[in-house]
Amino acid sequence: MWVKMDIQESAISASPVSASARTQIQVQNPAITAEVEHVLAGRTRDIRLKGELRRLFQERSWPRTAKIIRAWMTWVAVLDALTLSLNAILLPKVIALSMLPPACILPPAALATAFVWRRPRALWLQRLSIIAGMFLILLSVALVGVSAGGEFYERHLNIMLFVAITAIIIFGIPLGWTVTIAAFALGLYLVFQLQNPSLEKGSAIAAALFFASGILATVVARRTMTILAQKTFLLELRDRSRVVELADANAQLERLARTDPLTGIANRRWMMETLNQLWSGGLKRDGGAAMLMCDIDDFKNLNDRLGHAEGDRCLVKVAGIIESCVRRNRDLVARYGGEEFLVLLTGVDEPEAIAVAERIRESVEAASLPNPASRVSPYVTLSIGVATHAPDHEVVSPGQLQNQADASLYRAKQTGRNRVATGSVH
Ligand code: GH3
Ligand code: MG
Ligand code: MG
Repeated sequence: MWVKMDIQESAISASPVSASARTQIQVQNPAITAEVEHVLAGRTRDIRLKGELRRLFQERSWPRTAKIIRAWMTWVAVLDALTLSLNAILLPKVIALSMLPPACILPPAALATAFVWRRPRALWLQRLSIIAGMFLILLSVALVGVSAGGEFYERHLNIMLFVAITAIIIFGIPLGWTVTIAAFALGLYLVFQLQNPSLEKGSAIAAALFFASGILATVVARRTMTILAQKTFLLELRDRSRVVELADANAQLERLARTDPLTGIANRRWMMETLNQLWSGGLKRDGGAAMLMCDIDDFKNLNDRLGHAEGDRCLVKVAGIIESCVRRNRDLVARYGGEEFLVLLTGVDEPEAIAVAERIRESVEAASLPNPASRVSPYVTLSIGVATHAPDHEVVSPGQLQNQADASLYRAKQTGRNRVATGSVH
């Protein structure tokens, strides 16, 4: 059988971007998510990674593949040196010396390959290094036996096959490269066995065929391992994208829970959370705080005269006007109740808070939103109660500050509406 090549060009591209960072980005890419689902819906044996998905897999698996290749290369180099030393001690000098030149091919070839795989390189260089490196290593092992002759001849050819099999099994490289290594091993075996003086040609071919079936089995096993690694990768991507979806949904829910649906500004809950945060930490650092309790004057009359829908539109406009009068990143405007808005200002003193309140009041008045049944003006007006908390004073609770703002608002209403009234908490 001939194993399909396409999945296996899973080599190992060079990329400067961190693999996990890229994977994280791509998890949120709908095309990738759809492709992952599509591939996982099919049979495991049919898994084929294409395009971006394949590149992600390559980037992801590169560090481990490279580590294994480096370790293996170092291992064969050390083993070669050890065997050579042992042979020098144990074997007759003539045989040991005949083994020396071919054995010297292996360490530089293995170490050069390990060097190339220290970091991601161009694909052609990776391919060249692994294929040339493996060829030289296998040739070296075979030639050691051929040079020594006798019992060493066949023994070293078998060792060469063993070396090739370990590489085929553990190198997570593209199938095309794996098949090339397998072909080298079998080719070298056949060529040298055909020249083996103590073996008939027929036996040499029979032995080569026998080992070919074993090597083919290892190539198939390697392909299965690659497919399983790809499946694991896809499952991991799917998990991650589900986690991201869930986090998005949670964030969306959280936003909804903190937002007033009519006006789109913060709701009371958001305001309370902000107040608690401010009070549990940054109040002193932020240099005090002020609260403005804003209440639309005679809003009930607006509803009664113009209808509830018009009342709603008025609330949306007033919310927008108030927001446009405060600092976007430092202050918070919340719809506190029906037609009441609470503004939290940080790092302001009383005159500054009053100035902001005046600006809000004037802006609402200047907008000339109709409120024909109002007792104050034919247009929508606001009464605002201000409470400030100076940073050098003892910290009071948000509730106390709010009560003060309420009391100020009450005074603003009592003294004629469409005005700002103030008071500070000490
Ligand atoms: P004051 O000047 O004393 O504040 O008088 P007011 O009429 O504004 O105050 P009151 O508390 O008597 O009436 C508030 C009205 O706000 C009553 C309620 O129907 C209306 N309201 C509360 N929530 C909404 C809402 O979401 N949409 C609309 N259109 N009206 C609302
Ligand atoms: Mg009210
Ligand atoms: Mg009102």
